Amino acid sequence: MYRLISLLIGLFFLNSAFADNRTTLYDFRFWSSPERTRIVIDVDQGVRFSIKQKSNQFTLSIRNAKLLKETYKKLFYTDQRINKTRVKREDTTYQFKFKLQDQYLIKSYTLKPNDKYQHHRLVVDLYNQKNQANTLVKKPKKTLIKKPISKQYSQKIILLDAGHGGEDSGAVGYKRSKEKRITLRIAKKLAKKINNTKGMKAFLTRRGDYYVGLTKRIRIAQANKASLFVSIHADAVKSRHAKGASVYTLSERGGSTKFARRLENSQNTSDQFGVKQPRNSKDQYLNKILWDLSRKDRDIQSQKLGAKILKEMSKIGHLHKKKPQKAGFVVLKTPAIPSVLVETAFISNPEEELRLNNNKEQDKIANAIYQGILNYYK
Ligand SMILES: [Zn+2]
Repeated sequence: MYRLISLLIGLFFLNSAFADNRTTLYDFRFWSSPERTRIVIDVDQGVRFSIKQKSNQFTLSIRNAKLLKETYKKLFYTDQRINKTRVKREDTTYQFKFKLQDQYLIKSYTLKPNDKYQHHRLVVDLYNQKNQANTLVKKPKKTLIKKPISKQYSQKIILLDAGHGGEDSGAVGYKRSKEKRITLRIAKKLAKKINNTKGMKAFLTRRGDYYVGLTKRIRIAQANKASLFVSIHADAVKSRHAKGASVYTLSERGGSTKFARRLENSQNTSDQFGVKQPRNSKDQYLNKILWDLSRKDRDIQSQKLGAKILKEMSKIGHLHKKKPQKAGFVVLKTPAIPSVLVETAFISNPEEELRLNNNKEQDKIANAIYQGILNYYK
């Protein structure tokens, strides 16, 4: 009898386990960038899906799925690539039919949960098929061409990198503000100041809320022939009391302090948000040469630039570290050009979080970095 009961109980649990075995679609997120549209769906482990493409349409089928009411509403997103979405359900299989503007290269993969995302994620990327290179290199305005060649070459091109973006929100503040929004606002303000300066031109690694891979950010700098690389961030630690700005420069051997190493790890792991890029052995070889040739000079120049920016930052707020710190961030591994990473303030400090969200304060920060860059060139 006991055996029978335990068998029945066993069967009952087995049954309910099967009944609950459906993949819940917890959330849909869409991110549009000049290069691609990224669709992210929060799912359970072991999601079974397939993708069928037919001219300007693709169907994403997810088997054995459960769609939540909140999720359903988020599904109908349109952008420059997605025109319309329809949902069809057959038993427990959901078919999401996306009507597209054009034919795109579709890539899909799953990601495991991490610190920021508790669910497994199904990611579908729609890439532009043509002119992919054009999104990398922005052509100079026509008016530029009329200028004498010598003037064009003397123009200082500064690549501004707004940290994080899209799925990667960066640090989240005490009042839930996101680093990715703040870094973009400051980067845009800084770009404006630089572009209003004679002989200087700024480019941004991203212009909206989407993720750009760390190595891609470096390639954008190279493709635009940038002479400086400035990455903008907001700091965060567990303590609410840490405050002030710091500047990091590249050190090939990685961080000079425990703190720099910790930061370096958290920044570098951001790459898990993007697609893993195939390694090209030739490119790596070339990179190594460029790297060795220019490393010393670049490091000295980066230190100089970092010190100039810090000096200006000290005039508008606290400094967390009075000297530029060395760290081995992936985004700073740009061969040949001086590169710095500016931690503008602590988003984890409620007072500084307020400051970071304030338009006037953002302008002050952008201006301090701008003055630092000007002083560096003087
Ligand atoms: Zn950051």
